[in-house]
Amino acid sequence: MSNSPDANGSLPSFSSIKPEEIEPAITRLLDDNRSRLNDIVAATGADTDFEHSILPLEELGSALHQAWAPVSHLHGVANSPELREAYNRCLPLIARYETEISQDERICKLFQDVAKRIDGTGRQAERRLLELGLRDFHLAGVDLPTAEKRRFKEIAEELSGLQARFEQNVLDSMAAWSHHETNSKHVSGIPAVNLEQARDAAANAGLEGWLFKLDQPSYVAVVTHADHRDLRRQFYRAWATRASDQEPSPPEFDNSEIIEQILRLRHEAADLVGFASYAEYSLASKMAESVDEVMQFLDELATRSHEKAAEELSQLERFAGQALAAWDIAYYAEKLRQDQYAVSDAELRPYFPLDRVLAGLFSLVERIYGLRIEHVDDVDVWETDVRYHRIVNDDGDVIGGFYTDLFARPQKRSGAWMDECLNRMDWPGVQQAPVAHLVCNFARPTTSTPSLLNHDEVLTLFHEFGHTLHHVLTRVPFPSVAGINGVPWDAVELPSQFMENFAWAPEVLPMISGHYRTGDPLPDETLQRLRASRVFHAAMQMVRQLEFSLFDLRLHGEYDPARGSRLARILEDVRNRVAVVRHPEYNRFAHAFSHIFGGGYAAGYYSYKWAEVLAADAWSAFEDGGTMNRELAERFRQEILEVGGTVEISDAFAAFRGRAAQLEPLLRQSGILPATGSAGPV
Ligand SMILES: [Zn+2]
Repeated sequence: MSNSPDANGSLPSFSSIKPEEIEPAITRLLDDNRSRLNDIVAATGADTDFEHSILPLEELGSALHQAWAPVSHLHGVANSPELREAYNRCLPLIARYETEISQDERICKLFQDVAKRIDGTGRQAERRLLELGLRDFHLAGVDLPTAEKRRFKEIAEELSGLQARFEQNVLDSMAAWSHHETNSKHVSGIPAVNLEQARDAAANAGLEGWLFKLDQPSYVAVVTHADHRDLRRQFYRAWATRASDQEPSPPEFDNSEIIEQILRLRHEAADLVGFASYAEYSLASKMAESVDEVMQFLDELATRSHEKAAEELSQLERFAGQALAAWDIAYYAEKLRQDQYAVSDAELRPYFPLDRVLAGLFSLVERIYGLRIEHVDDVDVWETDVRYHRIVNDDGDVIGGFYTDLFARPQKRSGAWMDECLNRMDWPGVQQAPVAHLVCNFARPTTSTPSLLNHDEVLTLFHEFGHTLHHVLTRVPFPSVAGINGVPWDAVELPSQFMENFAWAPEVLPMISGHYRTGDPLPDETLQRLRASRVFHAAMQMVRQLEFSLFDLRLHGEYDPARGSRLARILEDVRNRVAVVRHPEYNRFAHAFSHIFGGGYAAGYYSYKWAEVLAADAWSAFEDGGTMNRELAERFRQEILEVGGTVEISDAFAAFRGRAAQLEPLLRQSGILPATGSAGPV
């Protein structure tokens, strides 16, 4: 079996991973890493330099990655009770090890010494690795005096407990609500698949009719499709009050106090390491320079989108023939969309058979980047329909590879993602080509029909392929700043969102579509309707995202321990400023805003819009210069995709675009400004 992306690297042997061997292997490896780490630190002295001190650390990180990445990957795509148990036992071991490393003063000192020694000399990638490493040590409080460092650690632990409780309250309050319906008139319009689930749930509970739960798919199905207005209103109320002080959420799951504690502790932690607010702390590792810059960015988008969003809403109300409440918007929007564009999944799917889409995507990459993507047959995989592909450049060199695991199946996590399998490493004695995992959850083929995608799924595939290219085209030799590593959170979606644009382009759509039975091209008129549907309610969606972003940023930027969060006040302010849809007084969306209170998007929710602006502006170069412009693509590859975290993204972007990013391309793409040129939305 030739398990090599090139002569030097080696792919994991997935089929030989045995759950019972995982924990002992990981334990051994962590012990080994710890003792090698001690050796590296002990050996420092006069010859402390990048090669002798930092590269060995990169190797330790890589050893752990290579042992753990295949396990964590299988946990996502081929789960079993035994594997899950082994995985869960290893998680805390790895977390402890990683905390140790990120808090290790000796390594911090090592970085400081090497940085001093290099002092302006050394390669860009070396300087940048040190710079980001030192920044992260500082943000983790490693260089603080002892008492403050202890407090910083306490806060981190307390925060992770509070964030977990926040999430749990959201889940518990959702689980506490259900709606039992026996009147068949009241469920009219709801899709058959959701009704079937509700009927099963009722039967399981020994009830007649339908029992609806408050999970996201059920909520979306009801507010989008249920004809019965009062049912929509009840669902909306349950959804908008999750984990809050408002009925029907049970009071024991109220997140109000947890939100206050989280904000207070974040502020204190930021203060300890020298930032005026948690928003400033969050931005220290992002592309955006300052809170002011992000505020201005969001503010300008809001100013320029508001009128169009208001226009979209009044058009919708005219269509509905009445003033609309918050629980009516999705319902009438769906009706209007059908009315205006009449482009349905059922009509599109036969034209997007997966094999055709993939072949088109691969030939696109060959045309614009000169890369050949070759299927390699005899590679060890975890599931029969998984494929491995190697990437060959113009000179015939294999530069990396990726696995595609594209079909839904039990034991596989839902959603779509790119993950790193192997990281690029390249220094004397150490060479490894990058390899990625590209994972989706498309319907698998049946005996009579291939896997047929709708256009959203095509976009998903292009999006994840954009991340894949970012990982595998990197030229950076050190894993911790190669590919997506070291790329700030607000820029990491640039390559993926950029790639999505190709799946809308009139030149590319014919390459990736063709009727699965007849091979007929997508009818021109359908293609026009599909492209036109891209801007549907884009301004309303824009102001909604801006509302979340501004709320998050102001909440974390203006926090003052003396007066608490002022959450309601800030939310009202932000809504008055940007929102067009009126929400009732009982709406408590912040109490279930898991992105910022449960996950890692605190003072970073704006990142979505930030990256969209970069992606749309990068794409506008192709609108001007031609979708298939090889020279432009080459520049995008060199300046953005290849540099990983070694260049400030604002510099990388300017090197590609010849100037700083501008908002107009996204506004044009969203139909907020009129399109220019032939390739804009029609
Ligand atoms: Zn993404």
